[in-house]
Amino acid sequence: MATKEYFRQWAREHREECRESCRCWREQHREYFKQYRIDHQKETAEYWDSIREKQKAYFKIHYKLNRSRYRANGEKRRALLRNKPSEFIDIDQLRKDFKGRCAICGKNVPIGKESIDHIIPIARDGANIYSNVQLTHFACNRRRGAGRIPAQTRLQLV
Ligand SMILES: [Zn+2]
Repeated sequence: MATKEYFRQWAREHREECRESCRCWREQHREYFKQYRIDHQKETAEYWDSIREKQKAYFKIHYKLNRSRYRANGEKRRALLRNKPSEFIDIDQLRKDFKGRCAICGKNVPIGKESIDHIIPIARDGANIYSNVQLTHFACNRRRGAGRIPAQTRLQLV
């Protein structure tokens, strides 16, 4: 405590001197700091660049595998906007209900290729609830379009 007080006192009395020595020291190390900043920026830029690629790749894979999950959230919102009953459709549950098979073509649906098909489309005031959805391939669902081929019902399948 005494030492701290002493230094404070000293700095107050030698304010100009303190400033001068600081300035002097900075002046002498200017190049060093400049270089340090450049190196540091270069290092972090490289780091962020490498991470960015990894992040992109990670997100790409993650999105591919969870595409139907992202979509499920979107569908829920869409139905809610139309004041229709809506619940979060868990793709794993749907997978279990349909034994992993596509309701349109009947073949196995690999992870990441699934789609939640609305038997009565949301665009035609269908609800986003389990009794109105079926598991399909994304490709099958798209091929079928909205009502071009009559949608199978869950009852027919089970
Ligand atoms: Zn299919």
